[in-house]
Parts: sequence; C-alpha cells; structure tokens
Amino acid sequence: MRVLKHQLQSGSVGHAYLFSGTRGTGKTTMARLLAKGVNCLAGGEALVPPAGVERPCGICENCVAVKNGIMVDVVEIDAASNNGVEDVRELRDSVIYPPTMGRKKVFIIDEVHMFSKAAFNALLKTLEEPPGHILFILCTTEPNKLPQTILSRCIKMDFRRVPMEQIAAGLTDICAKIGLTATPDAAALIASNADGSVRDGLSILEQCVQTGERNITRELVLSVVGSPGDASIAALTDMAYRGTASEALVRLDEMLAGGMDEKRVIDDWIEWLRSALLIKFVSEPGRILNRADENIAEIAKQSADYDVKFINDSIYRLAKLRNDARWSSAVRILLEMAVIEMSEERAQNGG
Ligand SMILES: [Zn+2]
Repeated sequence: MRVLKHQLQSGSVGHAYLFSGTRGTGKTTMARLLAKGVNCLAGGEALVPPAGVERPCGICENCVAVKNGIMVDVVEIDAASNNGVEDVRELRDSVIYPPTMGRKKVFIIDEVHMFSKAAFNALLKTLEEPPGHILFILCTTEPNKLPQTILSRCIKMDFRRVPMEQIAAGLTDICAKIGLTATPDAAALIASNADGSVRDGLSILEQCVQTGERNITRELVLSVVGSPGDASIAALTDMAYRGTASEALVRLDEMLAGGMDEKRVIDDWIEWLRSALLIKFVSEPGRILNRADENIAEIAKQSADYDVKFINDSIYRLAKLRNDARWSSAVRILLEMAVIEMSEERAQNGG
C-alpha cells in the first residue's frame, strides 16, 4: 500500500481503483483511509500537501467526518443490497456535482461483483469519462466476475491474507491494551481460525472477551469457536495414517471432551483433507484454498508422504458420515467408527 501513500503525497491519486481480495483483508478499511487521504485538510487545501505533512492526518474536520460516516462527499454503496440499475443511475447523476466539503467526491462500492449487468453498464458510462473531482473505489472478493471493460479502467490492488504470526501478535497487543491476557497458544489458535482475516480474528477475540474471562486461554477459544483447529485435525489424521486407532480415539475423545461439536470436527476434517489433496496437484494452492500460506505449508509438509488413495478414501468416508450424521443422534459413535476404519485399513494396507 506504499503506492497509495505515494500517490496521496504527490497528488497523483487515480480516479478508479479496484481493491480485490478475500473477506476481512482490509479492503474497505483501506478505501476509507484513501477517502480520508484525498479529502484531508492537513497542510491546507492544495492537492499536494506541503513537504513533511502526511495525509490522512486523522484529526482534521474531514478525516473525522469520514471516520464517523457523516462526510457528505464520501458515499458507500453495498452492491450486495443495491444491485439495481436505479442506484447506479442515481449515482451517475450525483457524480456531476462537485464535492461540498472536500477535494473529491468518493464512491466506495463494496461487493461490486454483485451489480447487475445494467448497473455495470451505467457505472461504465461514468468510468469512461470521469469528472476530475470523482474517485471510485470498487471492492470485491470476486474480481473474476467483473466485466473486462470495468477492470481495464481501474487501478488494481490485491489485498492479501495477513500471516498468522502477525494476527496473533496483533491480538496479543490488543489484549494488553485493554487489560487482558491471552496465552500464546490461545492467540495462535484465534489466528489459525481467522485464517488470514483480521476481522475474523477480532470477532473471535470479542466473543472470548464477552464471556467475562480476563485470561484468554486455548480452552476458552476452543469453546468459543467450537472448532478443533488445524493442529488437532492434523494430529488425528497422522494417527489414522500410521494405523494407530487407539491413539486416534484418545485424541478424538480429548477434542470432544473439550466441547467441540462432532459435526464441526467432520466438516473441518474434510476441509483439511481436501487441502492436502489439492496441494498435491496444484502448484499454487493458495489461489483456491481458503487458508493462510503458513497453514498450507504445514499441511503440505505433513501430507507429503500420504498417498492419494488414503486421502480420497478418507474424504469419501467422512463425506458419507456427514450425510449420515444429519439423521443420527449418535454422531459420536459414527465418527469413532470412521476413525477405526481409517486406521485399520492403513494398518493392513501399508501403515
Ligand atoms: Zn485530515
């Protein structure tokens, strides 16, 4: 995002940006920062700030107005709920009026891929001949769904997932600031569940805080997310692969005793195995898998020796189990049977 900073400082901000990336990677946060930056009054009214002045300042009238969502020149549109062409026509009409408080009129369109074809056409008309006082910031999780005509008129910026350690460190900082403590394994577990999304990480932390506990432990996080987490699933898979049913059953018991939901274990396990399978075949698995790079590296390391048959059979078995679990009140027994079958098969055929 150094590019944006440079453009702000040199007064060379473009008229249309496309921020793409998975949910929770900071697209709208960055869009608001840019909206503040172009309208920030630090250093005066000029487009290029005087040397040494950084925009956005965060404290001037315009910065504060954007922050509070009351800046008339910054319009946020959620395309997911405004996919009608009427909204874009309205937008197109209001585009011709100059900004009232700031230098630029900013339109932040979230989930822009949800626009209808007619809405895209209306938007395109404006993008083709944008008035100088206009800044469009289009945000999307699915840039491939945008028409080429729109894509070619935008400056594209890719938002990446935040590495796990960085999220864990950030969460630990926040806890310290609000007078709480989080154990390192608790912070790591939140980060692993957040899977690259700062927003998801914060939301899990918030749920932990709401329990009233002052010390956030791994157990607390597990009870909040109801998920086994990658580490448990990885251990379980390894035990099944080595054909040691007894160890796997004990591990499973520990997981369920900790308050995890059986169906969640099944879902997460299938997802883990799917990742292991795709990693074997796809050169850049990060593009299809909803996982942070470190998670992918971990899974790749562990599953390097696994044969495709083991992974495939396990997925089939768990998928069937997931289906059966919908009608059964004894999901735990079904899950234990699956673990035994997986281990026994490996013990006989090569474990
Ligand atoms: Zn400012």
